Amino acid sequence: MKWKKILIIMVIILIVIAGTGAVIFYPMYGFMFHESTLVVDKDLTIIRGGGGNSGLLVADSAVVVIDTKMSGAAETLYNLAKSKAGSRKIIAVNTHYHSDHVNGNKFYKGCDIYIGAYDQKFLLGDMGSENLPNRFVKDSLVLNLGNETVCLYNMGQGHTMNDMVVLLKNHKVLFTGDLIFNKVNPFLKRVSGASVDKWIGDLDRMLSLPGVAMVVPGHGETGDRTMIESMKNYFTDMKTAAADPTKEKAMCEKYKEWLTLPMMTSPQATIDYIRKP
Ligand SMILES: [Zn+2]
Repeated sequence: MKWKKILIIMVIILIVIAGTGAVIFYPMYGFMFHESTLVVDKDLTIIRGGGGNSGLLVADSAVVVIDTKMSGAAETLYNLAKSKAGSRKIIAVNTHYHSDHVNGNKFYKGCDIYIGAYDQKFLLGDMGSENLPNRFVKDSLVLNLGNETVCLYNMGQGHTMNDMVVLLKNHKVLFTGDLIFNKVNPFLKRVSGASVDKWIGDLDRMLSLPGVAMVVPGHGETGDRTMIESMKNYFTDMKTAAADPTKEKAMCEKYKEWLTLPMMTSPQATIDYIRKP
């Protein structure tokens, strides 16, 4: 009887802790899970959330999915792609290897799945065989699909060792993967090979790409090319703060509107990473 009581109390405590955690953390992490759809035109749909932001392009000769999301959202996206494809083939593109962008790859059996040219042993260790892509882009690749030309650019190191951006030439839409977090403090992980200096170089290269009207970031809302400049300014400011501690407080204040993820991302975490990458 006594043990039964203790067990019930423990279960109640666990429920309270989980509930409190959900209330505190959902507003912060919610953007990762909350989904919203933006129909650009009859051929292009952007699906935000459910992991990283994704694109679904219906071209003459193929349907292209940019980033395959995770869990339930991944399956919904695949089913949508399949319903739009009809007899056309489906092509998947991963902007980088992080699970929130690639965990839906397992649904794309028999399809070409493109990613940057990472070390394949590293990829296998991180992603497991079921999500492993099968096409590796070293520098760039152009897919001519009739009514749309899809350009894949491996930008090299930045957020990870091989970040890829995808330009839909006729739509003038650039998918940046996690090289842009729109008003969200960025993830910087040593194991991924994150490098702030190289990241800034990637942003400069993106700014030099012609014909970009709309930008789809890895996380956060879509916008225009000023988003690329904002991300660059963020890192430049954090570098200034990292070099001069008297400016640290002001720089953290300047970006207080940017979403922070507890124990993961914040202006301070970025400053600390720049000091000790
Ligand atoms: Zn990422």
